[in-house]
Amino acid sequence: MILILLGPPGAGKGTQSQLISERLGLPQLSTGDMLRAAVKAGTPVGLKAKKIMEVGGLVSDEIVIGIIADRISEPDCAKGFILDGFPRTLAQADALDELLKSKGRHLDVVVELKVDDTKLIERIECRARETLAAGGTVRADDNAEALKTRLIAYYRETAPLIGYYYAHRLLKSVDGMKPIPEVSRLVGELLDQFQHA
Ligand code: AMP
Repeated sequence: MILILLGPPGAGKGTQSQLISERLGLPQLSTGDMLRAAVKAGTPVGLKAKKIMEVGGLVSDEIVIGIIADRISEPDCAKGFILDGFPRTLAQADALDELLKSKGRHLDVVVELKVDDTKLIERIECRARETLAAGGTVRADDNAEALKTRLIAYYRETAPLIGYYYAHRLLKSVDGMKPIPEVSRLVGELLDQFQHA
């Protein structure tokens, strides 16, 4: 099964992708995690992405499409995978479509985590506080300025994907404002339909 988790920053894409990954035994492909790893390792991609990520902008389509093209060719993706944070633009969605087509594969479902826009900033600030309290490192882009840029990038570039996948009859929406276990249960129910289809 090949699926996409779609939603604004702070919607819980990472958390839900991880839970689905454990449940279905499919790899979770987070372009954000891959880019952060590249930044840490100081690779050429990392060097290009670092500044853009820090301010909350979008890394170029060319870079992220290249990363995903390589990653989905790896053997652990043969049974399927979960895309978390990709695609984020219509150009990325088109490129994914072409990539999958060229491999004789197709997208099964796009799960949209629907959230109350007014609660997003609150949620991300809460994530940063909880990470700090647990002794963790807060993401460089979890600050007010970068968050504003990330939200604008989401509404400008990524939100149109909701209509795009709706038109392709691939979109399923779940209430992302419920507690994590409840969202996970709803997503699980939804995916069961696909596994048994
Ligand atoms: P995330 O962990 O998904 O919130 O991603 C963190 C940051 O990585 C984003 O704010 C972007 O700067 C960059 N990024 C991750 N995925 C993409 C993507 N598909 N397209 C462009 N930039 C991305």
